[in-house]
Amino acid sequence: MPAIDGLPPLRETISRYGLNAKKSLGQNFLLDLNLTQKIARAAGNLEDAVVLEVGPGPGGLTRALLACGARKVIAVERDERCLPALHEIGEHYPDRLDIVEGDALEVDFSVLAAGERIRIVSNLPYNIGTPLLVSWLLTEPWPPYFDSLTLMFQKEVAQRIVAAPGSGAYGRLSVLAGWRTEAGLAFDVPRQAFTPPPKVTSSVVHLTPRAAPLACSAANLARVTQAAFGQRRKMLRQSLKAVGGEPLLVGAGIDPQRRAETLTVAEFCRLAQALG
Ligand code: SAM
Repeated sequence: MPAIDGLPPLRETISRYGLNAKKSLGQNFLLDLNLTQKIARAAGNLEDAVVLEVGPGPGGLTRALLACGARKVIAVERDERCLPALHEIGEHYPDRLDIVEGDALEVDFSVLAAGERIRIVSNLPYNIGTPLLVSWLLTEPWPPYFDSLTLMFQKEVAQRIVAAPGSGAYGRLSVLAGWRTEAGLAFDVPRQAFTPPPKVTSSVVHLTPRAAPLACSAANLARVTQAAFGQRRKMLRQSLKAVGGEPLLVGAGIDPQRRAETLTVAEFCRLAQALG
């Protein structure tokens, strides 16, 4: 595979720095630079953009983001073994790569953004993908400090993020994502594209923050969706008993005999508002 940037092939980097993949860190690396460029392009025009990347690993996606013209990439990596490989990329692109060693779950991304408008792009470690997305979706104030999220998940999680009411995949994640963003599936990535291959297909999801989501408290929305989808096969008058039951539903103008997966995002927001 000819390199896009004159840097050594990723296989060579991995072997030189001994980056054998650790399952505990969700390490499934992408070595095909055409594919990492496709992910970078799914984030939109990166010319002059500041990009935040979680989990750069040996740097395949990082290199694509820089080759696509990102003015700066801020990359947060937990595995110190990857740092020398990332510094090599930083030397190739002077002043354009900030490497932050740390746990993405503990990092305040808005502080890293330092007032710049940023795009978040990541091949997320599968074990922290959902909590990270939820934390970005619950960012306050809203509109947030980021202009977009372009993220790789296991396909089943990606389907839950973009699911519409009435589908089996529709749940808490779909309501939260649909409330605050416009979310779409960009493309699937087969398991064989990764080293080592994970058990399932992955998908890239692109989310753009809504400028003015429906007014509703994030905490209340979390409560009603958790209760409603916690017992998704039951009628709402039953599943929502602990948070207000039939009176809450009637107050919000929703038939208590309906089930969670039939409610639109707007109806969930009405319930969250009725919760007071
Ligand atoms: N971006 C690389 C690629 O596409 O080939 C690696 C992606 S791999 C799926 C996930 C990366 O996230 C690994 O490099 C792993 O070390 C890193 N990682 C895992 N947990 C992390 C955490 N809590 N904070 C930051 N990085 C983490």
